[in-house]
Order: sequence, then C-alpha cells, then structure tokens
Amino acid sequence: MEKINLEKYKGIIFDMDGVIYDISEAIKKAVDDSVEKYDMNVNPDEVMEEIAHLIEEIQNYPIPKILLNSYDLLKVKFLEGISFFKKLRIAIFMFNQFNKYKDDESTIFKGIDDLISKLAKNVKLAILTNNKSQYAEEVLKKFNLSNYFSTIIGFNDVTEVKPNPEGILKILNKWDLKPSEAIFIGDMTTDIEAGKAANVKMICVASGLAQKETLREHHPDILVDNTDELIKVFDF
Ligand SMILES: [Mg+2]
Repeated sequence: MEKINLEKYKGIIFDMDGVIYDISEAIKKAVDDSVEKYDMNVNPDEVMEEIAHLIEEIQNYPIPKILLNSYDLLKVKFLEGISFFKKLRIAIFMFNQFNKYKDDESTIFKGIDDLISKLAKNVKLAILTNNKSQYAEEVLKKFNLSNYFSTIIGFNDVTEVKPNPEGILKILNKWDLKPSEAIFIGDMTTDIEAGKAANVKMICVASGLAQKETLREHHPDILVDNTDELIKVFDF
C-alpha cells in the first residue's frame, strides 16, 4: 500500500461522519426498525449505503427543503414500488429513529484520536462536513479533539456541499496552501469526487457505510478498509 510521507504535506482535511465519528450503528438500528415496522422486503446490509447517502443529504436540509425535494430524494432503490406517501412516512420514521439513536450509539473510531493528535504535531488539521459545523464542533468537544482542528467547515459555510470542492478550496485558501500540499480523508463517493475536483491527495476509508467496490470505482488515490489501515498509511 502507498505510504504518505508527511514532509510533503502541510494540511489534512477530515470528513466527520464515517472517518472520525462512527454513526453506522445508529443507521443500522434505524434501518432495522423501519424494515420491521413497515414490513419491508429488503436486506438491511444491501441498503445501508443508499440510506447513509440519503441521511447525509437530508441532515443538512431544513424541513421545507426536504419536503420540496422529497419526490426526488425518495427515488431510491430500497423504496421502489412503494407509494409516495408511504415512502415519505418510512423515510421520516427512519430519520427520527436515526436521530434517536445517534448520540448514544455513536462514538469515535478506535485509534482515530491518537492519529489526530500525532498528525496535529506535523500539519494543520480541518474538518469538512456536509452536516452543520456546530454538530462537528460538539462531537469534537465531546471527545476532547477540538484543540487539534483550526478550521471547521459545515454546509452552513459553503454555497455548494460535497461533491463540490468548494469546502476544500475554502480551507486551502484560508491556510494559503496549494492542493498538492493537502490531503482529504473521507468515506463516501461524494468525498472522493470533492477531493479529486480540488486536486488534493484523496484517502478513502471504507469504514462501513459505503461498499468498498463502489468506492474503488471512484478511484481515490488511496483506499483503506478501516481506521487501523488508515493509521498505517502515515509515516511518522
Ligand atoms: Mg462521511
């Protein structure tokens, strides 16, 4: 596997959910509850990726925007063949369950805090999330990671969220760095697209929500299976 020589880089941008914060249990439980309540004929493992994308997308929308866009948002495979209003009921139920589980079932990936503290001694660190910046701040604070990040960018700080590279470019601009001096670490295809469009080194962690094969098809510079492998990518 390709190793990263940190001397070549001055800044690293982290995605939050799926890279630092593990929300997969909350999503799994929300899916299981929905499958049971609505007697849906789907395999939860197979729909996780689609639902993770959906949740990531609607998390940052105000309710009117969700409703306005609900017809398109709900054109997802796992809800195919179901009437629109039932789709809406299922999606709202699932999203509520997810929010119910999120705080108690989610924690940071094991070892990611050590990696962050080591990296912070060598390079600048930032967070880029499609969620609210305040949410990222709260999670970092809860796990004593706030001091390591000089910049946090959420959907509220950009006009276009990932896969648009705007957030990455904004951070590079703030740091006064060239794309070749920065790394972006994400876990979804939207992260890979954003990283490639910004021309930074893109590391993708297949930490559970997206299928590794799907991620590979989007050609990140480096693709790893989990946090343990991510830690091994860096040469300290
Ligand atoms: Mg993510």
